[in-house]
Amino acid sequence: MSPADTRETVADVTVLGAGVVGICTALSLRERGFSVTLIDRNPPAEGASHGNAGSLSPWSCVPQSMPGLWKNVPKWLLDPDGPIALRLGYAHKFFPYAVKFLRAGNLERLPTIADAMLGLTLPTVTLYRHHLDGTGSENLVRDSVYVHVFKNAADADLTQLGWRMRQERQVPIEVVTGDALHEIEPALSSEFKAAVLIKRQGRALDPGGIGKALAEKAQGMGVTFLRRSVEKLVPEADGAWRIETDQGAMPAKKIVVAMGAWSKKMMSDLGVNAPLEAERGYHLIFQNPGVTLNNCIMNVDAKFVVSSMNAGVRCAGTAEFAGVDAAPDYRRAQVFNGMIKRMFPDINTSDTVEWMGPRPSTPDSVPYLGEIPGFTNLIAAYGHGHTGMTMAPKTGEVIASMIAGESLDIDVTPYKIDRFN
Ligand SMILES: Cc1cc2nc3c(=O)[nH]c(=O)nc-3n(C[C@H](O)[C@H](O)[C@H](O)COP(=O)(O)OP(=O)(O)OC[C@H]3O[C@@H](n4cnc5c(N)ncnc54)[C@H](O)[C@@H]3O)c2cc1C
Repeated sequence: MSPADTRETVADVTVLGAGVVGICTALSLRERGFSVTLIDRNPPAEGASHGNAGSLSPWSCVPQSMPGLWKNVPKWLLDPDGPIALRLGYAHKFFPYAVKFLRAGNLERLPTIADAMLGLTLPTVTLYRHHLDGTGSENLVRDSVYVHVFKNAADADLTQLGWRMRQERQVPIEVVTGDALHEIEPALSSEFKAAVLIKRQGRALDPGGIGKALAEKAQGMGVTFLRRSVEKLVPEADGAWRIETDQGAMPAKKIVVAMGAWSKKMMSDLGVNAPLEAERGYHLIFQNPGVTLNNCIMNVDAKFVVSSMNAGVRCAGTAEFAGVDAAPDYRRAQVFNGMIKRMFPDINTSDTVEWMGPRPSTPDSVPYLGEIPGFTNLIAAYGHGHTGMTMAPKTGEVIASMIAGESLDIDVTPYKIDRFN
C-alpha cells in the first residue's frame, strides 16, 4: 500500500474502469467537489470506448430486442458474413441471456425502455462539448445526420415500429431518395435508393481520443488515476470497501463499478447476477480511403455503421458472443472489406486496421445505474450496450447527482439493477 492509500487520504469516490463511462462519471463527480480515484488496468479509453462507431445520437430510443426480431436470428446466425455470430463452445453460457433478451422485446415494456434510453441520450452532444471545453480536442465532436441507407426504397418505411417509436418522441426524421440522398453522401453507391435521416446529432472523429482527452482533463482537475487490475471487492464492517488489486489491497469509501463488459465477473463474485453479455463488436479502418463521408451512415440491412474519422473511414458493427476475454476472430472485421466496396465503390481498401471490443449489453438495452441492493456504497454504472458512447456523459451526471443527493431530472426506476430478478 502506498502512502496515498491510507484511510485518511482515501478518495470520496473510487471509480472502477476508465472507459468513457467511468471517465465521464469522474468528471461529473469532480465538478461537484468530490475527490475521485479512477482505476483501470489499461490506459484510459482502450476498451469498447476506443473503437466504437462514434455515433452520438441524442435520439437513440429503439432497443436491440424488438418484437419479432427472433424470426431473423436463424438466418443471421447461418450467414458467415451475417451481423451476429455465436461460438459453439459458448452457446450453453449464452442461452439464459438470449432468453431474457428475447423476452425484453415485448410491446408493453417498449415505451418504458425507449424513454429510459432517451433519458440518457438526449443531452449527449451538449455534455460532450461542455466536458471537452478547454481540452484542445473540442473539434473531435462534429455535427452530423445519421443516414440510414436502403437499397430498396420501399424499406425506408416510417410506418415500421422503430420509426414510429422515434416519431412519437419527436425525433427529427425525414426520408430522402435518389439524387437528394447522393447530394448528402456523394460517395455512396447509386445502388442505395433511399435513406431515413435522423437529424441534429453528433459524430466522434476519434472516440478513444475523446476518452483520453477527457481523462487528461479529469486528472488536471485533481482526479487520481491508478493503473491497477482490480481482482476482488470486499465489503468491510463499517460500510467501506477493500479493493484487492494486482498491486495489493487498497481501501475505498464508495465504489462506482464502470468496468463495462468486465463488470459481470466482478459483480457475480459478490453474488450480484444481473444479466450482462459481452456483445463483441469489430471495426475495420480504411486508413487511406480516398473518399470522405459527411455523416454517420448506417447500412440497415447489413447492420453496420460507417463514418469518416481522423484515422480514416471506420466501419463498425457485428455482434459476436464468445465470452468477454475470448481471442478475437478478425474474420468478423474482414467481412467489412467486401461490404464497404459495395457501399462506396471508389474507396481504397488496401490499408486497414482491425479491432475488437466488447459492448456491455443488457437484455433491454438499458444500463444498470444506481445503488446495488444488499450493499452500501456500491453503485452500478455499466451495461450501456450499443449506445454507451452516447449515454456516457449523462450517466456521469446521473451517478454524480445520486452521490451528491441532488434531486434527479429523470426517473431512475428503469435502470435498477434488480429489474430482471
Ligand atoms: C463495434 C462497436 C460500435 C459501437 N458504436 C457505438 C456508437 O456508434 N455509439 C455509441 O453510443 N456507442 C457505441 N458502441 C458502444 C460503446 O462503445 C460502449 O457502450 C461504451 O464504450 C461502454 O463504455 P464503458 O466505459 O462502459 O466500457 P469500456 O470502454 O469497455 O471500459 C471498461 C474499462 O474497464 C476496465 N477494466 C475491466 N476490468 C478491469 C479490472 N479487473 N481492473 C481494472 N480495470 C478493468 C477496462 O480496461 C476498460 O478500460 C459501440 C461498441 C462497439 C463494440
